[in-house]
Amino acid sequence: MLEMKNYKFWFCTGSQDLYGQECLDHVAEHSKIMVDRLNKSGILPYEVVWKPTLLTNAMIRQTFNEANADENCAGVITWMHTFSPAKSWILGLQEYRKPLLHLHTQFNREIPYDTIDMDFMNENQAAHGDREYGHIVSRMRIERKVIVGFWDDKEVQERIASWMRTAVGIIESSHIRVMRVADNMRNVAVTEGDKVEAQIKFGWEVDAYPVNEIAEAVEAVSKADTDALVEEYYSKYDILLEGRDPEEFKKHVAVQAQIEIGFERFLEEKNYQAIVTHFGDLGSLKQLPGLAIQRLMEKGYGFGGEGDWKTAAMVRLMKIMTQGKKDAKGTSFMEDYTYNLVPGKEGILEAHMLEVCPTIAEGPVSIKCQPLSMGDREDPARLVFTSKTGKAVATSLIDLGDRFRLIINDVNCKKVEKPMPKLPVATAFWTPEPSLQTGAEAWILAGGAHHTAFSYDLTAEQMGDWAAAMGIEAVYIDKDTNIRGLKNELRWNEAAFRLNLS
Ligand code: MN
Repeated sequence: MLEMKNYKFWFCTGSQDLYGQECLDHVAEHSKIMVDRLNKSGILPYEVVWKPTLLTNAMIRQTFNEANADENCAGVITWMHTFSPAKSWILGLQEYRKPLLHLHTQFNREIPYDTIDMDFMNENQAAHGDREYGHIVSRMRIERKVIVGFWDDKEVQERIASWMRTAVGIIESSHIRVMRVADNMRNVAVTEGDKVEAQIKFGWEVDAYPVNEIAEAVEAVSKADTDALVEEYYSKYDILLEGRDPEEFKKHVAVQAQIEIGFERFLEEKNYQAIVTHFGDLGSLKQLPGLAIQRLMEKGYGFGGEGDWKTAAMVRLMKIMTQGKKDAKGTSFMEDYTYNLVPGKEGILEAHMLEVCPTIAEGPVSIKCQPLSMGDREDPARLVFTSKTGKAVATSLIDLGDRFRLIINDVNCKKVEKPMPKLPVATAFWTPEPSLQTGAEAWILAGGAHHTAFSYDLTAEQMGDWAAAMGIEAVYIDKDTNIRGLKNELRWNEAAFRLNLS
């Protein structure tokens, strides 16, 4: 499901012919060494491709247009080894439409004090040339990432790696298609939004299907296929009968297995990568899709509850951005439920009715069947677990009527003090930065939803860079947040977006 294109990033070095061929030979040699070392670092998630040194207006324009046309190219990394007069870059930059990284670096780490002469200075003057280039990108108001530091340092390579994931999110955003099974939950505001504007801004296609059309696809799944998946569940997860009859329990689980297969076939056939459901509009489905949705999220599908297509698309996007990450800790749909307000132990218990992605689980994952206490269907089977600890990011995309805002909160995930044996859902527990009090106050002032797209494997910087590339407002809530500053920021953003200064 999460199989994606074999994306590559082009490495384009800027120079000019003022210093002669010998200098240009060195420039090409240096950039080839750098690309080779970057690829061998084992840190970058995608390959870097060396391109011939860019010297002229025509070459620059042609290269950027080739990058636009190459569907495997997810972005261009630029660096001015010597000096490259920036008017040469105007036409190319104007026509370029993909993510842009300005790597502000230098081939040599240290000034060669004993041997340095003017030839060396002319050849190695990124401090000079990168300012000329940076000026024109700023003057043209082009959104780009600037990363500064020695190219062979692990920290710089990790920042490039992180930006590459953002860039792939930017490129892949326009391939996200969300299937709405039934409509938004009646009367709920924050999960609503302008689907036309979402397609203009993010490239998302958001379509509705009558619930019984997908229910028919579920009913068409054979018993043999269903039983085989039930066997897989029973071999993979702990079974918590809690006094229920084992055969009756298994029949409940089989309903979810049939939904998983039916939904996945329907989504694949119609080319959707995210889905929303609504507990109040289930047509002929026998249970609210619980375990089934949890498994689909684990496979890489986006999901939002109660018709929340914005969060479903965000979960899918964040799964794309973390694809193939080594030691990934997981990405999920999530919902703020209930607080612990004990001083020193403050936090938010996170869960959903059923649909939390098992990629975030720590320890055993079990199947339970319990009444839903909402809606009118039979007790749905669901996966139950607790989640990993550590830093993570929770995001909420809201529609303010005249624009979208992405709220990004750094959170610290913790273990709850005690087990919660009577709670029949998967959970996480976190304290938002800078504290529960300020974090939640800021979240509410910013208009954030109860639903979030959550990941241990992405940073606020990555999510904010994605929002900037989409041309929408990003509000960060982190260790530096204070309410007075945040209120001013929201007020100023209001003016900036009204004047279209974004
Ligand atoms: Mn919900």
